[in-house]
Amino acid sequence: MQKYQMYIGGEWVAPSSGTWFESFNPFTGEPWALIPRGNAADADHAVRTAHAAFTDGPWPQMTATQRGALLRKLGDLVAQNAQHLAETEVRDNGKLLAEMAGQLNYVPQWYYYFGGLADKVQGAVIPLDKKGYFNFTRYEPLGVVVAITPWNSPLMLTAWKLAPALAAGNTVVIKPSEFTSASALEFVKLVEQAGFPAGVVNVVTGYGKEAGMPLVEHPLTAKITFTGSDATGRLIAETAARGFKKVGLELGGKSPNIVFEDAVIEDAVNGAVSGIFAATGQTCIAGSRLLLQESIHDDFVEKLLTLAKTAKMGNPMSLETQVGPVTTQPQYQKILSYIDVAKNEGATLRMGGGPATRPECGKGWFVEPTIFTGVDNNMRIAQEEVFGPVLSIIPFKDEEDAVRIANDVRFGLGAGVWTRDVGRAIRMSERIKAGTVWVNTYRAVSFMSPFGGYKDSGVGRENGQSAIYEYLQMKSVWINTGVKTGNPFVMR
Ligand code: ADP
Repeated sequence: MQKYQMYIGGEWVAPSSGTWFESFNPFTGEPWALIPRGNAADADHAVRTAHAAFTDGPWPQMTATQRGALLRKLGDLVAQNAQHLAETEVRDNGKLLAEMAGQLNYVPQWYYYFGGLADKVQGAVIPLDKKGYFNFTRYEPLGVVVAITPWNSPLMLTAWKLAPALAAGNTVVIKPSEFTSASALEFVKLVEQAGFPAGVVNVVTGYGKEAGMPLVEHPLTAKITFTGSDATGRLIAETAARGFKKVGLELGGKSPNIVFEDAVIEDAVNGAVSGIFAATGQTCIAGSRLLLQESIHDDFVEKLLTLAKTAKMGNPMSLETQVGPVTTQPQYQKILSYIDVAKNEGATLRMGGGPATRPECGKGWFVEPTIFTGVDNNMRIAQEEVFGPVLSIIPFKDEEDAVRIANDVRFGLGAGVWTRDVGRAIRMSERIKAGTVWVNTYRAVSFMSPFGGYKDSGVGRENGQSAIYEYLQMKSVWINTGVKTGNPFVMR
């Protein structure tokens, strides 16, 4: 079994607890790696080290252009090592190799884009209303950024946080999910190879409460950027508030994928399947509520069932596989329990509905792609995030009804709209309360396009030019160009 160390201050270190825990391969259900069990002492070591790297040494002396060059080099190294990183992720996480290969050829773009952006952050000269002063703004990094990531897309989500944070000049402590820590530890070798100074990027592994929370609570932590469940996000935000720390939160979703009668039906069927069964439904943007206009409902469901039944399950390392295992055993249990919830609530099971017992699934944690019709939007299966291959189909009458149902949920991460009517597409995109609306497509993301949540789906935006400002603070500088100092008791 592979035994990993943590990475702090440019060194590979053992956890101060002296203990490791097992990481499992979801396809075999067997442990394959040992992950250091970090605790508060390791968190303290990492944050102090990152803080020292932020205040002293080569990093704060570098120009933004030099930081950009390092980020671009890191992007190149990720591209060169894409296969190895992809295989690590597949082994640890159960993601499809087919998807990971694509993802890891795309991840370098985050390092290129934010590397390029690093030296394009500009303050402004403010045309003041007062004579005799020169006033300008400048942007400065925050300090130590703690990046806490979930298990569903570890390397991609690390890139979303790390690239802008480093481009802005911060130092970072990464805390990957305890279920999928290996890829971050493999990745950080490339950070070292790229030539980032020691302490600029650190990785602390371990459980959320033991290793994550002390990073959040640490007085030298300036910002926490988190992707994960809304329950943990709330706890992190509450804790961060006590120290007036900044937070960026990307939380869950219960995204509506809305198909109107005038849609190109074949495309919408594909979009519905990719919205919920790609990545085994384990994405925050899963289109887990399929809203179908009543006039096309029955016909659409038949087409959807026909396509969904062809999904090939099995070994995620095989390029043929379309639906892989669930990443963690607790998540596997959770999905199965939600299937029971839906059955008990009176939803009609049309496909799947339990563990996959196909021979190609072996002993892995597989759930059959599952489709329910007759779902009412008030049911728990329509309101709560399942994070698995479980689709709830909800009929609607007209545009008004679709908007009402789409927005009647506490989340607001993504939404899909399928229609050939451009006016309707624009009206829907205006009225849906979600951070991303896709029209005649689903699940598209780019390093260039802002991503984040309305309502309980989060705080702040990742990706796109504005993301770098989430890791900067603005300073206003006043220079007296010749005003006499007058009465000191009067505000100027
Ligand atoms: P999930 O239920 O999808 O695993 P979590 O929100 O629990 O999502 O986990 C996402 C990340 O948050 C993981 O890296 C996990 O270790 C971390 N985490 C969980 N609980 C805490 C906590 N109390 N404080 C800080 N980090 C936490």
